[in-house]
Amino acid sequence: MNHQLSANEKQTWILFQEKIKEKVSPQQFTTWFVNLRLIKFNTKEVYINVPNSFCMEWLENNYMEVISTALSEVTNTNYKIRFVVDSKGFQEHTLSIQRGSHPSDEKNPGYINKNYSFDNFLVGPCNRLAHAAALAVAESPGTAYNPLFIHGPVGLGKTHLLQAIFLQLQQRSGGRNALYLPCESFVNHYISTIKTGDWDSFRNKYRQIDVLLIDDVHFLANSQSTREEFFHTFNALYTCQKQIVLSSDCPPEEIPTIEERLVSRFRWGLITRIDPPGFETSVAIIQRKTSLLNMEISYDVARYLAEHATSSIREIEGALTNISRYAAINENKIDLNFVKQVIRGFIKQKNYIGIEEIFNTVTKHFGVQLSQLHSKRKFKSITLPRQVAMYLARKLTNLSLEEIGGYMGGRDHTTVMHADEKIRKLRKQDQNISATLRKLETVLTKKQK
Ligand code: ADP
Ligand code: MG
Repeated sequence: MNHQLSANEKQTWILFQEKIKEKVSPQQFTTWFVNLRLIKFNTKEVYINVPNSFCMEWLENNYMEVISTALSEVTNTNYKIRFVVDSKGFQEHTLSIQRGSHPSDEKNPGYINKNYSFDNFLVGPCNRLAHAAALAVAESPGTAYNPLFIHGPVGLGKTHLLQAIFLQLQQRSGGRNALYLPCESFVNHYISTIKTGDWDSFRNKYRQIDVLLIDDVHFLANSQSTREEFFHTFNALYTCQKQIVLSSDCPPEEIPTIEERLVSRFRWGLITRIDPPGFETSVAIIQRKTSLLNMEISYDVARYLAEHATSSIREIEGALTNISRYAAINENKIDLNFVKQVIRGFIKQKNYIGIEEIFNTVTKHFGVQLSQLHSKRKFKSITLPRQVAMYLARKLTNLSLEEIGGYMGGRDHTTVMHADEKIRKLRKQDQNISATLRKLETVLTKKQK
């Protein structure tokens, strides 16, 4: 397939890669996307060269949605994606990547971002526990929490915390034997070792270290044999009281296909969740990041951003970078109108749902008074609507546990957490509740349109 790419194709490919970069982490980009090459566009299909069949399968199983969305965003066309395996022409690049993940490079691996330090991590109610645990692990690995398992949706600082541990260990004790690795690289390494048969160096790499930090372990879901190997690695390190830190986009038991014995290993230590930042934390993060970017913004603008970029800190950062870039090009002052224009289309138009609307909808549906929701009385007929209100606030707003507790008549954050868990469980077990919740959510999200 020796097709000469047209200028148009080249440009589309560059834009496509930029889009992918917005959707995946830098590590994922380096691992799976740097090596892709465009072969050609047909009217209905796009042909993409991948270095090997493992990479092809991995992309097909994990990234098809990302790839097709990025492609249709760039081209406004729904192309069918065709991968073509061709290892020729990739050797140079593959080599440099392998070198990057080789043990001899561990002290300064390509994955580590020097900015992901504890100093640059802002603490709020959403991440306080995870941050404290990470700090404790960095201070005395192998003793505090082992393993430490941090989970939460994308873009909330899991990688940042894992790398902060790594950076601190590196700074404090120079060569302390720590290894940070995206789980996909572990899988990659395992698969390539199947081919080379060099199990000694594979096992030496993971078992002769004091601290193993593996990011995004939900990727273990896709390969049973890798999970097996990971299980042995885990046991070998744990038995010698070596520290293990893991991150995932969901709690251990929710990783699909994962075996109970691995889940129970993860439970030996501390499992902690990072939540989306509440309003106040978002404002604080925005103010800190704008001052790092030398941007001046008013409190109104910070507030507007905190209300609209609610799903993740990565989203906040993306919005700020875009705003600062457009402001520089257009020599514009960054006021509220300008910011509204710039982020229209950039931030997924999530509809902002306020806690008052949740209160209105819940009281109407259950036929209770707002004062009853707020009261401390424990009648069964009020407890359920009260817990449902807390659950919905948790799910549909970006208020923190503390903030919701405040709105619920000054309740403690653990009460909100308990209510949230209780309703989540009920939703799975009880069809009536599940139908009610679906109905309430539809009403609330429709109101926004
Ligand atoms: P995850 O691994 O959970 O998907 P990342 O660790 O990649 O998320 O974080 C996404 C971006 O947000 C990074 O640039 C990171 O530095 C930033 N970030 C996340 N949490 C915080 C925080 N608490 N304070 C400052 N920056 C943060
Ligand atoms: Mg991450």
